[in-house]
Amino acid sequence: MAQSALAAPQIPPINGFDHEELVVRAGRRSDITIVIAVHSTRLGGAMGACRTWRYPSRAAAIQDALRLSEAMTYKAAAAGVDAGGGKSVLCLAPGAELDPARRQNLFRDFGEMVEGLDGRYFTGQDVGTTPDDVTVIAESTRHVQQTGIDTGPWAAKGVYYSMRACANHVFGDPSLASRQIAVIGLGAVGGNLARLLADAGVHLLLADIDERRRALADELGATWTTPTEALTAEVDIVAPCALGGMIDAAVVDALRSPIVCGGANNQLADLHLAADLMARNIVYAPDFVANAGGFIYVAALRFASDTAEAVTEAEERTQHLEGQMGQLMSIAADERVSPLEAARQLAGARIAAA
Ligand code: NAD
Repeated sequence: MAQSALAAPQIPPINGFDHEELVVRAGRRSDITIVIAVHSTRLGGAMGACRTWRYPSRAAAIQDALRLSEAMTYKAAAAGVDAGGGKSVLCLAPGAELDPARRQNLFRDFGEMVEGLDGRYFTGQDVGTTPDDVTVIAESTRHVQQTGIDTGPWAAKGVYYSMRACANHVFGDPSLASRQIAVIGLGAVGGNLARLLADAGVHLLLADIDERRRALADELGATWTTPTEALTAEVDIVAPCALGGMIDAAVVDALRSPIVCGGANNQLADLHLAADLMARNIVYAPDFVANAGGFIYVAALRFASDTAEAVTEAEERTQHLEGQMGQLMSIAADERVSPLEAARQLAGARIAAA
């Protein structure tokens, strides 16, 4: 009998603390808590961008860094990039505002910490971190993404191709034209995704907690609604593109869309919800595969010999996500596991073989 595509290698525990390195330090200039989590360097130096966010506690920031860095390990492995997974979190207090001088100090502190890890961690720009911040980081370390690049459109493109694969799996047709799709969170990823979908002839339902994003809905002729309504709307695809944890047990029960495919990292509040979604016949596209386009672009810029080569490679790999996601869906259906479980096992197999 042919060996199951999912057989054999052990995969890392789903929610365990199996990280290689965790550094937590108060910045010596800024006095702001900086967390760097290196989940794995089995495939290469860990890559994962830097998030600057307000957290209720340091523990919450550490937890976020641990989960996000683990997801990066899977993202790199699934994307076929020879890099490990890491993530950093700059933990602002609730309600804190940074004046320009303290902000610069924070990113200097952070750049020095990254440099101190000697290449075991390579950083970049995530939510709350700006291109100017990346420029400050780059003054202290080489282990940072190229300055002045925008990964949002690349992540959006990957989500778009992943949606086509999901549509093909569920409706037997990859075309998104005339489909109804809800996008929640209209920032760098969700905003670009909405534009791609509008160009493809999708009927859009858009939502964000920031009322200013309503202008995009008006521009694209989309319907504007609240995030809660959009998440549970009766549409063909729901695309969570804000922060993680948006899909909890209550949302799983309330969902009325056959597909969830978005750009946010760690969309499920608990990984076990993947099985609950499957039980409800809802296809959940693993986030670390669907949103890999931004990472693929950063990695291509890092490893290719010039920008043109990097763009060509990133374009090919991002488009390839459609076939890859389709294959995942088929394997998951054959094996009677969720697509998330299938993706984790396949990525885990690549890591275990390294
Ligand atoms: P962003 O800060 O540009 O945009 C986030 C948007 O979500 C903002 O408009 C914000 O107002 C909105 N938002 C926040 N909380 C919300 C809520 N509860 N309901 C509705 N809207 C809400 O961030 P981004 O770069 O677009 O990233 C979005 C997600 O995608 C994050 O989870 C990020 O980790 C992930 N991601 C980003 C990239 C990238 O290249 N930018 C790549 C892969 C994954």
